[in-house]
Order: sequence, then structure tokens, then C-alpha cells
Amino acid sequence: MVSEKPMKIAIGAMLCEGNSLTPVLTRLADFDYAEGQDMYEKVAVMDLLRGQGCDVVPTLYAHALPGGPVAREDFLHLAESLVERLPRKGLDGIWLYLHGAMCVEEIGSAEEHLLARIREKVGYEVPISLSMDFHADNSDRLPKLCNVVTGYRTAPHRDREEAQRRGVELLLHCIRGKLLPRPQLARADVIVCGDAVQTDLEPLKGIMEMAEEMERLPGMLSVQVFNGQPWIDEPYTGPNFVATHEWDDALALACARRLARRFYEARHDFRFLVEAATPREAVRLAMEAREPLVFLSDSGDNTTAGAVGDNAYLLKLLQQEGAKDALVAGIADAGACEACYAAGLGEELTLRVGGSLSADSEATVITGRLIHRGDILSYQHNNAGPSATLDCGDITVVITENRAAMCRPDIFDSIDLDFRRFHIVAVKLGYLFPELAREADRAILALTPGASCERLEDMHLKRIRRPMFPLDDDFLEGPEGPGEEGRDFEEESPREGQEVPR
Ligand SMILES: [Zn+2]
Repeated sequence: MVSEKPMKIAIGAMLCEGNSLTPVLTRLADFDYAEGQDMYEKVAVMDLLRGQGCDVVPTLYAHALPGGPVAREDFLHLAESLVERLPRKGLDGIWLYLHGAMCVEEIGSAEEHLLARIREKVGYEVPISLSMDFHADNSDRLPKLCNVVTGYRTAPHRDREEAQRRGVELLLHCIRGKLLPRPQLARADVIVCGDAVQTDLEPLKGIMEMAEEMERLPGMLSVQVFNGQPWIDEPYTGPNFVATHEWDDALALACARRLARRFYEARHDFRFLVEAATPREAVRLAMEAREPLVFLSDSGDNTTAGAVGDNAYLLKLLQQEGAKDALVAGIADAGACEACYAAGLGEELTLRVGGSLSADSEATVITGRLIHRGDILSYQHNNAGPSATLDCGDITVVITENRAAMCRPDIFDSIDLDFRRFHIVAVKLGYLFPELAREADRAILALTPGASCERLEDMHLKRIRRPMFPLDDDFLEGPEGPGEEGRDFEEESPREGQEVPR
């Protein structure tokens, strides 16, 4: 047997879905962090790499709850620590697990900056493969700094591990074939809120199937649909399509453009996929609901979309409307949480909650008995810090010291809270994560204000590209319409008679 030299592969992960509409910066302390070999258990690719006998060079893993822009100095610290761990020479490939919509104070795209720094160090002869989130807002330069791009193909996300593994498999394929492919990107000038885009439902379902069909073309490595994260005010915000072919860039570009065109054509068909209503109407609908368990999403303050999570707006409405048998899960308020830790369990407390992080968030006063205290599990499966639960009679309220996301049953379990015993459960989410959706008899989206508000006219985006639907419409006329320069969806002729699926 001829013994092959093991492939030397560096791995790294940096994830935080950004939201540039919140005033709260994401700091180093907000990241679940591991470096060196400690990062192995955080990624889903180690068995794959070990199975191939690879010599793995770990860098770091940093994953934060979606939030405001990462503080510049904190991001630079993370990026430089990652780059520092890469050997200048001798690497066969690099695999990175990146969100794609991580924004950085004064810098913009974290991913572009990081990749540019990596290229400065290792050059352009080392293949780089990316596994990204479906909500990546990829900048124009990003595909020029890597060799293959793949990502999640489900929203809500159920395939995080598959996407990581696919990224590694594609990297190994490039290394073995001595390939340095050039991913091609196209955009649809459409802003669609994340909550109106689910991959199992039309119109996105058909678009995902089209991408899948394109991926079966000979030599095509990956055809990836990204919806983008709409709450980032940058010129590169919005749906983008990245296709990577082993060598046929024209075919890849034609496929990316075909998908962009199809997305644009479907722009009027995206709508909220659950019941959506004004906040007061949503509260009334929930109160009148006959279903035993109704989830009410405080969609404007959705921490999984990066919003602040400190707004008591919906709690106040529930109080005003006289809601009964309701749980508010939860509100970030360090001061109120601290007051609960200073009191005794079972004690009755009157607290002002809300508005502790953002001047735009509202506060309200609650009086209740302290029924639980303890650390709460985070979105990233680590510790999100202290929490307190107050039974205020008709409404039970969870207060957390830090921003949190009560998006899965195990997070409720971590503070001994059985959400199933309430009629209304108000959560700081948009659409429910699959683990909660399974439990809900009904889900209502309350169109509340905040940094993740669902109404584009309330977002006050200033830096996005224009024209942009729905702010502008019908700016690409007819199926052949070239539009402005650089925006046309005209296809370049693919080589070797390859057909672009239509
Ligand atoms: Zn996402």
C-alpha cells in the first residue's frame, strides 16, 4: 500500500448573526469560545477529518447569540487570534464555519475582513471552503477570497451539521483534484423578512429545488441560496446566490443569476407564514384562542434576529388587556435580575422591568412572587447567566441578566419552567424554532416594534442598494430585461452545451 501524506487542514468557526439596527454592541464576553483542540467538540466535522487521516490544525471557535455589530476591537482580536494560529506554509486547505451576516463596528462584513487577512497570510493557492448560515449577507468580494461556498438549506435551520460536513467534503474534493474554483455570486434586489422565508414552503421551496437540480450538473460543486439577514443596513444586504463549479465560471454565474431572477420574480409571493397581526390584535387573538397552548412572538424584539431583547412592550400590552395564564419568556434586565438575587425565594417583589439596554425599549412595573432563580441555558448551548422567574398571578415573567433566546424546550427546562402549563407563551422570536413549533397548538406573530421589526418601512434602512423591492418595484422589466449595468440577469453562454435549468 502506498502511504499518502496526510492532508493538513486548518479549521475555524466564527458566528454571530448581526443586526445593525440595535444600539447594543456584541462584545467578546458574548461569545461561546474555544481555541485549539478544545474547539473539536464544537464542530460537527472531526470524525470526517479523522476518518480521512487528516492532520488537523485547530484555530478557534467563537459563536454568539445574534446581536448588534461586534465591537471593532473585539472582532479584530478574534480575527487576529484565528489568523495567528494558521501556519504560513504547508496547509493543504482551510475550512471555515462562518455566519455570513456578522457585522462589525466601522468595518462592515466580518467574513470579508477575516478572509482577506487569511489570504494575506497563506496566499491564494490554498483552497478555502466555507460553510455558512442561510441568512448570510455576502459581500461582493467574499466569493473572490474563497474557493467554495455552501451553507444551510433549511429555514428554520435543521441542517447545521450537514452544511458543515458538506463544506469539509467539498474542501477534500478540491484538495484531491488540485482545484481552486472561483465561486460566482448574483443578487436579487429584494428584501424579505426572515419570517416570510421558509424553505419548505413556496415560493422558496421551488427555488431550493431549482438550486438542487443545478447542483447535479457535471462539475458543479455547490449551488447555494442565501436569503440574507434584512436587518443589516449595508449595500450587500439581501438574497444572494453563490454557485461554485470546478472550472466553468460562466456556467456557475449563469446558475446564480437564474436563481436571482427566479427569486425576484417571486417577490410578491413571500408572505408571513404564520398568523401575523398588530401587537394589540395579536394579544387579543391569543387571549381568545381556544387552543390550549398559543405562542405569541414578539417579533420586533427577536433576539435570534439580533434585536435587543429588553423590551417590555408586549408584557405591558398583556397587562393592559388583562391576559390570564400567560408566560413572558423572557426580558433581559440585569438590574431587575440582580434585585431578584438580593431577595429571598418566595418573597414578593415589585420591579420595574424593561428598557435597560435600549432607549427605544419600554419598561413596565410588575409585582410577583419569586419562584425560581438560576442560570439559564443559552442559544449556543452554553450558560447564558443568571435568570429569575416571577409569578405575578395572571402573568409569569422570566427576567435574565444577559440577552437570551428562549427558543427551545431545553432552555425552559434549564430553569425548571414548564411552558406547557400556560395558555399564552410570549417569546422573543419570529417564527418558532422547530423544537417549539412542535409543541405549539397555535403560533401568532405580533408585529411589535424593535430592531427586528417585520415592516420594512419601519426599518429605516439608509445604506442598502436601490432600487430594492418593496421600496421600489418593477425595475427589472420583462424576462430579458437587462436593467442597469451590473444588475442584469442575462446569462452568459455556458460552455460545452451545458443547460441551465429553468
Ligand atoms: Zn440563520
